[in-house]
Amino acid sequence: MKPAETKDFRLVTGGLSVTLSKTGTGISLKSIKDTRNSKKLLSEPRVLFTMKAVVLATNETISADSQTGWNFVDVIKASDKLYTIILSGNEKLSGVTVTITASLEGNRITWKISLVNDNSEISLTECDYPILSFDSKTDNMFFSPYGCGEIYSSAKEGGFLSEQNYPSYGASMQYLAFWNEKSRRGIYCGLHDPAPAYKKIHYSRKADEKAFTLKIVLPLTNTDIGANSQELYGKCVWELFDGDWYDAALIYRDWVWNEARWMTRYKPLPEWMKKNNHWWLLHNMDGFKAEDVAELNKDLGVDSATHIYYWHQIPFDNDYPHYFPLKQEYFDLIQDLKKLGIRTMTYINGRLWDTKDRGMEDWQFSSVAKPYTTKEKDGTMFIEKYNSEEADGSKVELSIMCPSSAVWQEKVKEIVDRLFNEVGVDAVYIDQIAAAKPNLCQDKTHNHPAGGGTWWCDSYNNLLDHVVRTMPENCTLTTECTADPFMKYMSAYLSWLWVKNSQVPAFPAIYSDYMATFGICYSSFKDNDGVCMRVYFAQSLLYGEQMGWMRPEQYKELPFKGFYKKLVRLRAKLGEYFYDGRMLRPPYLKDNAPRMYSTNATEAYGGIIDYAAVQGGLWQRKRDDKQLLLLINTQECETVTQITTDAPDGTYDLNSDVSGKLIIKEGRANITLPALSVAYIEI
Ligand SMILES: [Zn+2]
Repeated sequence: MKPAETKDFRLVTGGLSVTLSKTGTGISLKSIKDTRNSKKLLSEPRVLFTMKAVVLATNETISADSQTGWNFVDVIKASDKLYTIILSGNEKLSGVTVTITASLEGNRITWKISLVNDNSEISLTECDYPILSFDSKTDNMFFSPYGCGEIYSSAKEGGFLSEQNYPSYGASMQYLAFWNEKSRRGIYCGLHDPAPAYKKIHYSRKADEKAFTLKIVLPLTNTDIGANSQELYGKCVWELFDGDWYDAALIYRDWVWNEARWMTRYKPLPEWMKKNNHWWLLHNMDGFKAEDVAELNKDLGVDSATHIYYWHQIPFDNDYPHYFPLKQEYFDLIQDLKKLGIRTMTYINGRLWDTKDRGMEDWQFSSVAKPYTTKEKDGTMFIEKYNSEEADGSKVELSIMCPSSAVWQEKVKEIVDRLFNEVGVDAVYIDQIAAAKPNLCQDKTHNHPAGGGTWWCDSYNNLLDHVVRTMPENCTLTTECTADPFMKYMSAYLSWLWVKNSQVPAFPAIYSDYMATFGICYSSFKDNDGVCMRVYFAQSLLYGEQMGWMRPEQYKELPFKGFYKKLVRLRAKLGEYFYDGRMLRPPYLKDNAPRMYSTNATEAYGGIIDYAAVQGGLWQRKRDDKQLLLLINTQECETVTQITTDAPDGTYDLNSDVSGKLIIKEGRANITLPALSVAYIEI
């Protein structure tokens, strides 16, 4: 056997230089360099991709990677702008050829991968897009698209391991990024897939390793058959950029607004939904009257819409989807709220059919639903269990319906139609659609290819299209969490889980001028924790969310209620910046107050949040390009804050709790904020 020959290929474009190393057995990502400042961003060789296959006869899983096992390896340089990498002859993957093209332009490399599988005995099941690795350092930060977005230092002790499904609560968008805080240079790694297909968004670093891994994995399609050749959906884009997470968000924003399929809205948001400022969460409110809501609104000082649960006679998460008949007292409540001009939105679930759908009885499950549930290759149904119980104390077993089926699409349409036309609600909240992960349904009798692909999102969007086309005027739909592929038909997403530490408002920076977000999960803060409350009162205003999703009984006991009311009233006053404006780069702030630290945020990692006392935002309204710089001191002491902002230099009148002038010179300003105060300038 001849010794492996090694040859390096430098892919250089703009300031980005990526070196690939070809050996006799494969290809690796050898190094990455920012040529403008001669900084090495990756200094040790890493694998470029991994892939998986299954032997159909035995169900044995085969794993392979770019570096080893390939008998034929070639890198073809067609021009300085176009490279093609071909790998084949892998003994574990006989008959499989991987072809990767890299197109170079500006500061960007665009990767495409195609897989040829001529082997009828194996099915390819998973393949990575090119893996972006970089050297971890304390000031090398990375961005994860969890919720509204999160940022961390890559050098955390103990390392990282995260893999989240896109779309789902764990990945709202299909991009990652890293950058250096000092040089303010970084690389964006985005999947520009307009359909989009189901993916897994992964980041990791082993505790003892220097290199940090950002990768996006594609579960492949037609996984029930051999010889399943296919192209990976979309384009994988690596782009060198100046700045930080905000600048990476703008690269994704530029792509989605130009190419993503979910950005061609079927109908504009109804005015009431667009301009709504606050939500009450009415959760099991038996005996609650419309007048009680009117009283709450009066106390709050702002009109608030209502999100109504438990309106159906069946128990929660049980006997789905048979929501009718509804409870008479809730029908009456909704009519009374309408008379008072208070908007109503009812809950339904968009995924689940109970396997015992009338008490302990299999009423329509087997006869109607079962052929259309999602299933594994061997026919096993995907079943979920929550806290709900049947009469005998056993957990309710809920099947996940296949969204491709006409039966499920018709059933959801029937329920939503009745809520709009018979009950008269203003909106229907269809739970789980943007929160739950796609299922790799392999039921051969369904009208979609087995495994991954674009069919899951396409099917849900087809279902939603079916619903909205006959929807009465001024009615609308919302769903849980914030995964972006479903927003063509949704006017608002429930941002309830945006209660983590290290959050940044990437999602609002990309989408706030396209759709609304609403609500924070205030019930997740243990013992009504006042630190958590104040942090997220402030963030929900600064991120442009419709505030609240507050339960009336919690509102009555709410700590720092005066501060909350002040912020909600400000949202109502300044609303146009948020619902008809754009989020600009938030100011960088440095204050002298104690940190807002708590261990009572049960939905945050380890229950911990740790934020600076003063938080700020910069928004621009569309009507006249006027800018709003908004600063909130969440701490109970007077605080001095240094501001660095993109807002133009000048001397501006301060409003709200601080009077006088704010002087911005060379992008910098100082302000002293009283305890629990708000100040803003309009520019
Ligand atoms: Zn299916």
